[in-house]
Amino acid sequence: MTKSNTGRSVEGRNKKTRVKTARGRSSSSTRWLQRQFNDQYVSRAKQLGYRSRAAWKLIQIDEKVKLLKDGQRVVDLGSAPGGWAQVAAERIKNGKIVAVDLLEMDPIQGVSIFRGDVTDQNLDRLIITELQGRPDIILSDMAAPTTGHRQTDHLRTMVLCEAAVQFAIEHLSLGGSFVSKVFQGGTQSDLLAKLNPLFDKIRHVKPDSSRKESPETYLVAKGFRKNPN
Ligand code: SAM
Repeated sequence: MTKSNTGRSVEGRNKKTRVKTARGRSSSSTRWLQRQFNDQYVSRAKQLGYRSRAAWKLIQIDEKVKLLKDGQRVVDLGSAPGGWAQVAAERIKNGKIVAVDLLEMDPIQGVSIFRGDVTDQNLDRLIITELQGRPDIILSDMAAPTTGHRQTDHLRTMVLCEAAVQFAIEHLSLGGSFVSKVFQGGTQSDLLAKLNPLFDKIRHVKPDSSRKESPETYLVAKGFRKNPN
């Protein structure tokens, strides 16, 4: 059992659920279902009303690097179904939170939701207008649907990360922070070379709730130095 300083505990379950292989269901989706059933973070997210197991990732990242503070302006890129936005809304009462996704997302109190593609520049103006200023924090958990082909998945995730970086470079407030899902290996060093001069401190965080076998990790950059305007 692990206990977070949010006062929320994550308990393991001893009994494993076995998923019967249904006709027409591929063995990989059966494995996915089996993993979901036996995952402590899935069940605790459900009990606490979080829409996704991903909520734990932001909770654990925030415990490590202390990002979210009341009064901040936050943008959540790739927000659906809304776990990160729920966590942000719990921790930021007197700020502004804007969530953006290609997919429709159910409302969350205190969060303005836009449906659209982050690479669409027209969306930037809407987001900044809604925030009434530059964001203090830009979060990106964006991911393309995985293909199972490691290199393809890596490249597609890094393209989305690049889009989030571009958004951050154009809009982040001075001193602001940027968090993005990245896949380890490959193009990661190019990204670091680009971001190093722009931030005071950059580190990678792999929250416990991120599956060990996943190449996913989170880049956390603090203290934005350059603002082109
Ligand atoms: N952080 C979310 C949560 O806590 O519920 C989970 C995010 S999910 C892993 C990744 C999301 O990125 C998907 O909902 C997907 O639609 C979104 N996404 C992928 N490409 C995008 C794009 N170009 N613009 C906006 N959202 C995108």
